[in-house]
Amino acid sequence: PKPDPIIVVDNISRTFGGIKAVQVDHLEVQRGAITGLIGPNGAGKTTFFNLITGFDKPDSGTWSLNGDPLGRMVPHQVARRGMVRTFQLTKALAKLTVLDNVRLGAAGQRGEHFLAALAPWVWRKQEAEITDRAHELLRRFKLDAKAGDFAGSLSGGQRKLLEMARALMTDPEIVMLDEPMAGVNPALTQSLLEHIKSLRDEGVTVVFVEHDMDVIRDISDWVVVMAQGQVIAESLPDRLGDNEAVVDAYLGGH
Ligand code: ATP
Repeated sequence: PKPDPIIVVDNISRTFGGIKAVQVDHLEVQRGAITGLIGPNGAGKTTFFNLITGFDKPDSGTWSLNGDPLGRMVPHQVARRGMVRTFQLTKALAKLTVLDNVRLGAAGQRGEHFLAALAPWVWRKQEAEITDRAHELLRRFKLDAKAGDFAGSLSGGQRKLLEMARALMTDPEIVMLDEPMAGVNPALTQSLLEHIKSLRDEGVTVVFVEHDMDVIRDISDWVVVMAQGQVIAESLPDRLGDNEAVVDAYLGGH
C-alpha cells in the first residue's frame, strides 16, 4: 500500500539520568496497519509510548497525529484527537466494577478527574449513551457476565481485555498496546490476537509491543525494531531475519 502515515515522529528524545532512553530520529506509523514494536528489555519501547501519548514529556522532538502536532497535549487531549494506549501493567481500578472501569474510558485517559471536577453535568448528560457503549464493548470482549464484579476479581488476561474495552470508549483511530499478551494464558492470547486483527479490519491502526516472535509474525503487517532507544530496523515480519543488526541486537541465537 502507498505510504499514508497516521503518526509522524521526528527527533524525539528522552534522557533519564544520563541514559538516552529514547532517541528516535524519524518514524512513521502506517494508517490501518498493525505495527509490531520489538526490542530487548530497556530498548525504550514503553518510554516511546509514554512520550507520544502525552504521559511523559520528551527533552526534544516533534510528533503529529493526522498532521496535527501533539507535543504539548496531555493524555486525555491525545485521546480526544484519536489516540489511546494501554499499559504493560494494567490500570484497572480494582475497587470499581468492570462496567465503571470501562465507562471511565469515555473521559479519555487520565481525564476522569478533570471531567469529574469541571463538568459533572457533561457526565450526567451523556451517561446513558456512555453506559450503552460500555455494555456493547463488554459484550465484544466477552466480559458482559462480569460487568457488576469488581475489576480486582478479574484474571490477568481479563484485565487486558478490560483495558482494551476501556481504551475503545473514545472510538480511537489508533491504539498503542503495551504488551497486550504478557501474562495472559494461551486460550485468551488467541482471543486477544483475534481482537487485534478485528480492530485492524475495522480500520483502527494498531501499534503493539510484544516479545514473542511467533505472535509478531502472526499478526504484524510491519515490524519496528528498537534497541538502546533507537529504531535500528523496520521490515516486513517475515524479512526480520535478513537484517544483521536485528539478529545481533534482538534475535540473538534464536
Ligand atoms: P521492557 O521491554 O523491559 O518493558 P522497554 O523497551 O519498554 O523495556 P523502557 O521501559 O522504555 O524500555 O526503558 C528504557 C530505558 O529508560 C531503560 O534504561 C530504563 O531503565 C529507563 N527508564 C525508563 N523509565 C524511567 C524512569 N521513569 N526513570 C528512570 N529511568 C527510566
